[in-house]
Amino acid sequence: MNTIGILGGMSAASTQVYYRELCDMTRMRLGGLHSPEVLIRSLDFARIEALQMAGDWDRAGAILNAEAKALERGGADLIVLATNTMHKLADQMMADVNIPMIHIADATADAIVSENLSSPGLMATAFTMEQSFYTDRLVAAGLKPIVPEAADRAETHRIIYEELCKGITTEQSQRTYVEIAGRLVEAGADCLILGCTEVGMLLNEHNVDVPVFDTTLIHCSAALSFALEQADQSVGRNT
Ligand code: GLU
Repeated sequence: MNTIGILGGMSAASTQVYYRELCDMTRMRLGGLHSPEVLIRSLDFARIEALQMAGDWDRAGAILNAEAKALERGGADLIVLATNTMHKLADQMMADVNIPMIHIADATADAIVSENLSSPGLMATAFTMEQSFYTDRLVAAGLKPIVPEAADRAETHRIIYEELCKGITTEQSQRTYVEIAGRLVEAGADCLILGCTEVGMLLNEHNVDVPVFDTTLIHCSAALSFALEQADQSVGRNT
């Protein structure tokens, strides 16, 4: 098996889920005592969030680029950036990096298309919902993403930063998320993208009326498939 490099800590709450899910998925797929080969670089999210708020994306991109190179030097065969939002900086992150990255939006779009669904509701940070770096990739895959109304976007974003990224889950916020998901379904969504790696802490297939695509789980599964496939072929390939 090849080594999966996780660039995480954004937030640490979801990076823990990546590691746990990769372990569970590997055990389910390979059985026995198998566990994944993983390198985790977990950043201090306070530092990254300050750059996001200041709009200093160049500096944030330079940090991601240095960390991706460190993962490559450390022996990673592929990179998983464990946050949807920071995929805004995917190109800068991968500059002069010679191992492939599994793009979270592309993996999610593939999963939705393979289920013959077309209009995903998107619950994510304001950056991911309101800028084009993420929705453009969904559209390129033939999907018609639907984002919440302004007030719902603001509340979705607030709960991510003030609660979920700190590992806090409350029944009140879960109710709020269920209501926002319901309004997306009323607006025509035929499925829901949990487009922030922490949103699965509150929403899942049991409390949403349409099929749910949890980007964290999809990303882990795609990375593991790639790592196993890559090892089988004993060659790398670029995404
Ligand atoms: N983990 C989040 C995401 O998937 C938000 C934190 C961040 O801004 O990186 O977008």
